[in-house]
Amino acid sequence: MLTREVNVKTEGGRSVVNVTRLVEDFVKESGVANGMVLVFLPHATAGFLLNEDEPNLRMDYSSFFEKLAPKEGEYMHNRIDDNADAHLLASLFKQFLVLPVIDGKLSRGTWQEIILLDFDGPRTRRITMVIMGE
Ligand code: ZN
Repeated sequence: MLTREVNVKTEGGRSVVNVTRLVEDFVKESGVANGMVLVFLPHATAGFLLNEDEPNLRMDYSSFFEKLAPKEGEYMHNRIDDNADAHLLASLFKQFLVLPVIDGKLSRGTWQEIILLDFDGPRTRRITMVIMGE
């Protein structure tokens, strides 16, 4: 078993960062041929998408997030903080992914990219990766 922690800097507000390469590099450098990789995000206002990364779809993601949890709203949490919408959005997404590693490669669909969603940037987000296998 091998682990790696990587810091990713995000932009202000809501942002989308493709981290597929980070995970694929880790898998390649681990030397594991067959097993699984866990990608974990220890944050309460961010999450992962395993989906297509295309410029128009990024705009669709953005308007989708705004429909789900408008930035401006009547939120109780905003009495003590200013990011209730970010917590609510993060609660709808996963803070971890587990993916198969087959023949030394990360197994994923053609249109599946590993995307970090930051709902409350700019921040430095930590990604913890764990690979198990042989
Ligand atoms: Zn908060």
